[in-house]
Amino acid sequence: MFWNKLFDKIYVLSLKDCNDRREHIRKEFAKVGLQDYEFFDASHFSSDEVKEFKKSERVIQSSSCFRCLKKRCGCENNFLTDFQIANWHSFVRIWQDIVDKKYKFVLICEDDIVFMPHFKRTILGALSKQQTKANNIKWNLPLLIGLGGAYHPQKHLLQTAPHLRRQNVMCNPCFCMNNQMAELFLKIYHVHHTSDHFMHIEVPQRIPIVQHFMMYPWPVYELSFVPSVSKFDSLVRPKGAIRRKEYKEFLFLSPSYSMNMMLLNVLKMTGIPMKEDNTPKGLGYRNNYGYITNYIWKNEEIKNRSRIDKKYLFTGGKEFDLLSLKTDLMIYNKLKENSEKINNNINNIIENPIDFYNNIFKSLGINNEFNYDNESELEELYLKFVKYIHENIDNVEIININNLPQDFYKKIMSINNINYLSVNKITPEKIKKVFDDYNYQISKLKINTENIDENENIDENKNVVEEVNEKEIIIEVVN
Ligand SMILES: [Zn+2]
Repeated sequence: MFWNKLFDKIYVLSLKDCNDRREHIRKEFAKVGLQDYEFFDASHFSSDEVKEFKKSERVIQSSSCFRCLKKRCGCENNFLTDFQIANWHSFVRIWQDIVDKKYKFVLICEDDIVFMPHFKRTILGALSKQQTKANNIKWNLPLLIGLGGAYHPQKHLLQTAPHLRRQNVMCNPCFCMNNQMAELFLKIYHVHHTSDHFMHIEVPQRIPIVQHFMMYPWPVYELSFVPSVSKFDSLVRPKGAIRRKEYKEFLFLSPSYSMNMMLLNVLKMTGIPMKEDNTPKGLGYRNNYGYITNYIWKNEEIKNRSRIDKKYLFTGGKEFDLLSLKTDLMIYNKLKENSEKINNNINNIIENPIDFYNNIFKSLGINNEFNYDNESELEELYLKFVKYIHENIDNVEIININNLPQDFYKKIMSINNINYLSVNKITPEKIKKVFDDYNYQISKLKINTENIDENENIDENKNVVEEVNEKEIIIEVVN
């Protein structure tokens, strides 16, 4: 047969365990007389190789949608899934193989392809001397020719003589290319979109020497994506896997409950409304912009639904953190001892820290009869907590609240696109005051109103939620 005269290597990209797909290929290839080919084991999304690959600098995990580049969008798939990255990894390995073994012209097939009855006429016709000459193909420059994709009657059943068309079409299911093409891909690839977009759209559009053609009428179609001819579930794109994530600007983490409350107040003061999160295991606060601490207790499935831009771990230094932890835990134990008081008094004043610490204890595997007087136990809790954050959250930026970066308040303000100059009376300096005055006792969780506005008339005898002005700046004053 002609196959191995045209191509010096034929790859079938296929997961090792996909026996039904491999069986399909064996039958399909036998039908078209294709005997000399190799099942090239596709990279599995959960393999160590792919996990390593994800960490390489070639893989760019953006906080924006890779399709439309917006942060918030309606795209059905707005981040590169592990399956898509695994697919990239497979292709990188194939390119490397082509270059290493110096193959001149190869055919690459996915494992769910089917040949049209006219396959031979089209392939031989499209790659004939007459066609390659007519299209001015230069064999010493990068060349990629697609044989097909999803089934499309107008492309597969086109009533014309076989020919090539210079166009950029996603044709991952089946395409051929030369060594120069593989070498170029290998040199310049960056994983920030799907592999087929990179090979068939991005590279040919950006690099003029790349020759990208399609054969007509298409001699090959794939089974996975068209419902009427669908045979296999796509493993590259399994059903039910998350394909989009909601964008969140921030995750604020703090090692103590009181610091958590302080962060909540700072956000409220910048005009960012936060609401209590009542989802299971969700004590804490969240809104469209982000989360405070509670996110880390959520299960993987919930975590995977968000893509968080900035993650900050706030600390006042170890000594400071330990002190605030100790104070919190004193309150925690008192609250537990006296539940009546919780309901009648304290709970109205401050949000209940019991659930906050119960979540911490549970996640860290610590007995909740915790002895806060024991310094070493306290320190152990603290270190476990910090370790837990680092193990569970990537790319956390540590912010020492005693030494905040100059532009930090501005950054928080910009979350809500608030121009801080336009927000009456609230300036970054005043918000900084809140951080500086953090050294409070939790029993009098109170923002010093003098630092907010000297003229503000606030009733100290009630729990007041006072509107400072029409800009929705809420100050909670607590006895
Ligand atoms: Zn999008």
